Amino acid sequence: MNSKIWLSSPHMGGNELKYIHEAFDANWVAPLGPNVNGFEEDLSTFLNQEVYVAALSAGTAALHLALIECGVSHGDEVICQSMTFSASANPIAYQGATPVFVDSEKDTWNICPVALEEAIQDRIAKGKTPKAIIAVHLYGMPYKVEEVHAVAEKYKIPVIEDAAEALGSTYKGQAAGTFGRFGALSFNGNKIITTSGGGALVCQSKEDKDKAVFLATQARDNAPHYQHSHIGYNYRMSNITAGIGRGQMEVLIDRVAARRAMNKFYQELFADIDGVTVFTEPSDDFYSNHWLSAIVIDPAIAGKTREDLRLAFLEDDIESRPLWKPMHMQPVFVDAPYYGGTVAEKLFDNGLCLPSGSNLTDEERARITAKVKEVFGK
Ligand SMILES: *Cc1c(COP(=O)(O)O)cnc(C)c1O
Repeated sequence: MNSKIWLSSPHMGGNELKYIHEAFDANWVAPLGPNVNGFEEDLSTFLNQEVYVAALSAGTAALHLALIECGVSHGDEVICQSMTFSASANPIAYQGATPVFVDSEKDTWNICPVALEEAIQDRIAKGKTPKAIIAVHLYGMPYKVEEVHAVAEKYKIPVIEDAAEALGSTYKGQAAGTFGRFGALSFNGNKIITTSGGGALVCQSKEDKDKAVFLATQARDNAPHYQHSHIGYNYRMSNITAGIGRGQMEVLIDRVAARRAMNKFYQELFADIDGVTVFTEPSDDFYSNHWLSAIVIDPAIAGKTREDLRLAFLEDDIESRPLWKPMHMQPVFVDAPYYGGTVAEKLFDNGLCLPSGSNLTDEERARITAKVKEVFGK
C-alpha cells in the first residue's frame, strides 16, 4: 500500500528546534518571551507595512479579539462571507451577535461586493447598521479589495480581514492581512506555515495591538495585585510555539513558491480535460499563495462529478475534500440572514480541493496524475 498523500501537511524548515532550544536554555517556557517578540517582528517585516502584530494561540482568537476591538457585542450584527471555514463566523456568536452571510462572486470565490452592499442597505432599512465586515481570502486568493473596501468605507463599517489562509498572498503588491482595520492570520497544522497551532492579529496601530495583548493575557490592570476591570482571555502565543514560527518564517517564501508550483502542476494536468477548471488568479493584480489548489468540475461537460474524482483518489489513499460548505447552509446557522444568489452553493456542489502541500514528491505527483487520467479516460 502506498503512503497517504495529504491535502496539506506540516513542512518544517530545519531551524525550528534551534529556537525551541534557545527557549529551553533561557527557561522562557511561557506565553511570552524572545521568540514571541521575534516572531511578531518577523511577521510585520514580512507584511512590509506599518503594522503591529500580536501573536496569539489561534487564528480564531485573532478574529474574536478583532470583533471585541470593533465594539461588537450582544445583539449586534456582523457581515461575514458565507463561503468559508466556520472559524470565520463562530467568534460572532461568541459575542452574542448575529452573523449576516453574503454570497461569493465567481472570480475570487470571495465576498461579492454587490451582494455586500445589498445586505448593508437592507440591514440598515431593518434598523441596524452592521458593526463589522469579515472578508476572507479563501484558499489564499485575495478578495476584490478595492470594491469591497469601497462599499465598507461608503457605510463606514470596519473590515476584518480573515487572512488565515493567505499569508504570502498580495493584491497589487500589498500583503493580504494589511488592508483591513484588523487582519487575522493562522498557523494551524495545515496552513502554509505552522506553529502546530497558533495565530496572529495584524493591527494598524500600536494602541490596537496593546489592547489585543492586554485582552489576550487576562486583562490585568496595572496594579501589584491582580485587578481586573475588563473580561480577559487566555489567548497569547507561547514562547515554544513562537520558536517554531521563527523557523518557519525563514522558509515562508519557499513554501509559497512550492504551493504555487503545485497550482501550475494542476493547470497543466487538467489543461486538456474539458469541464474541469483550476482555480487561479483572475488578473495580475492578484497573487495567491495557493494554500490549497482547487478545481470545479462541470459534470455535464466532464462526464464525471467531483465525487467520482474524490472517491477514486481515496482508493489510492490520496486526500481531497469538497470546498467549504457555505455557512448559510450549515445547521448551526439556519436562522442567520443571507444575501446573494447561488454562487457559493454551486461551488460547494462541484468544487474539490486537491493535495497542495509544499512537500509533495515527484512520485506522489505521478500517483495523482495516474488517477486523474484513469478517471477522465485520458
Ligand atoms: C484556519 C482558519 C481559521 C482559524 O484559524 P485557527 O488558527 O485554526 O483558529 C479561520 N478562518 C479561516 C478561513 C481558516 O482557514
